[in-house]
Amino acid sequence: MKVGDTGLYHTPVLTGVVARLAEGARRAVDCTVGGGGHAALILAGGAELLAIDRDSEAVAHAREFLSSDRVRFLTGSFASPDVVSAIREYRPDFVLLDLGVSARQLEVERRGFSFRPGVPLDMRMDCSDRYAPTAADLLNNRSQDELERLFWDNADEPRARRLARTVVKRRRQRPFAVSDDLVGAIREALGPGAGPKDFARIFQALRMEVNRERQELESALPQLLDAMVPGGVMVVIAYHSGEDRIVKGYFKAWSRACNCPPGQPVCSCPGIPRGRLLTRRPVRPTPQEVAANPRARSARLRAFRKSDAG
Ligand code: SAH
Repeated sequence: MKVGDTGLYHTPVLTGVVARLAEGARRAVDCTVGGGGHAALILAGGAELLAIDRDSEAVAHAREFLSSDRVRFLTGSFASPDVVSAIREYRPDFVLLDLGVSARQLEVERRGFSFRPGVPLDMRMDCSDRYAPTAADLLNNRSQDELERLFWDNADEPRARRLARTVVKRRRQRPFAVSDDLVGAIREALGPGAGPKDFARIFQALRMEVNRERQELESALPQLLDAMVPGGVMVVIAYHSGEDRIVKGYFKAWSRACNCPPGQPVCSCPGIPRGRLLTRRPVRPTPQEVAANPRARSARLRAFRKSDAG
């Protein structure tokens, strides 16, 4: 199998840019190994690798696909304390996060990420966590206000209030269980013009909430920066504007000399930047890449280099 080709599992995005940024890395961490496409590129560059995913099925696949004695695997979220301390001990000089879900996760129906008919509303990336709330649990238990905020914040849905109200009305008649229940509510709230793009957007919003994706990213990034050795490079690929905003915000703040809260009269922080941005603008896939791999469409890559001072 050629480097970067994970077969039918997942097509890695922006491989040329990732490979270039990983050049010279000795100890890399792939926080979202998925099908192992990016990981294979990193290994081909000669680095050792700590490969992480919160999805045990992804880890099992990547273990087989990569089959290298230079890789160690870890199952868990990159934001969990155990995983963060393992990363810190590894002392990486390269850290990659390729956020979101893999093509495989979207395709395996029992995982419940898809809006194809009859799919259970599950959406947990970590399918071993039997007690974590599923998408159906959120739809059946969250208050109308919470649902409205979720659709507004995560899906930029202008009719968030109407959709939340429709969900609450419908769940009184019958609890939400499968994709069709949510698609029906979206159709009712958004009108007959609602189509696959709306379904995808709202399903993604729910998925982000089920897996607490923004919160995890927000808490992980500063810890990952601390974990890297001086001069280390962090690369994040986001597929959602809300996530990209978090990455951009951190990278900008880390590049500034002073990070005191606005309005503070005298600077009390160390007054030196944590490093420098390697991407002034986010790197986007070319039209050719998007044509070959439509899932790359919304990818935005940003990179940051930690200063030699640490
Ligand atoms: N770069 C990979 C594809 C990654 S797809 C490749 O080349 O094949 C995104 C992966 O990130 C999924 O497998 C998903 O389970 C994982 N993931 C998402 N959020 C995570 C988190 N907080 N911690 C660990 N893994 C996560």
